[in-house]
Amino acid sequence: MYWCRDHGYRLVTRLLAVLALPVAGVVAPRGGARHAACQWALAVRFPAEDLTGLTSATKAAFTAARTRALWRDGVLIGLTSGYRDAEEQARLFAADVRRRGSLSYRPRTLPPAESCHVAGTAVDVRPLEGARWLERHGGRYHLYRVYDNEWWHFEYRPEGPPPRSAHPGASLADTGAGR
Ligand SMILES: [Zn+2]
Repeated sequence: MYWCRDHGYRLVTRLLAVLALPVAGVVAPRGGARHAACQWALAVRFPAEDLTGLTSATKAAFTAARTRALWRDGVLIGLTSGYRDAEEQARLFAADVRRRGSLSYRPRTLPPAESCHVAGTAVDVRPLEGARWLERHGGRYHLYRVYDNEWWHFEYRPEGPPPRSAHPGASLADTGAGR
């Protein structure tokens, strides 16, 4: 059932991109037509997503990756969460610490100073199939999965793939309070 629905979305979004191509060719003639057509189609499929606040390099990498995913492989990649301001991240962190009792219970959310979402270099994506595509091909765009427990979280790391950790906060727990 879900597969059918997702499959339908994929087909429709890809069709939109193909239909938009001639118009995009007029607006963005120099090689940017495919890119523009895919962004339009993805904006129709994921109207609520917001790429504002991502660094320009992260945004460029992410849009290039999702264009290739859609155009070449018919795979959709949507943005669930990109940039977060420090205040929102502090709220998430505080809620997580409260839920887990204390810092010694290994937080799964990072404080603002540590979060790549606050830095504008992290993207949470959906659906699972899109994340799998990004895990396989994201290196081409310097986008890497970082945590074992978060299939949706990717970071823009032009310096190369970061070491994989079990979950956010793993390094805090190792060096900081508790075990
Ligand atoms: Zn994330």
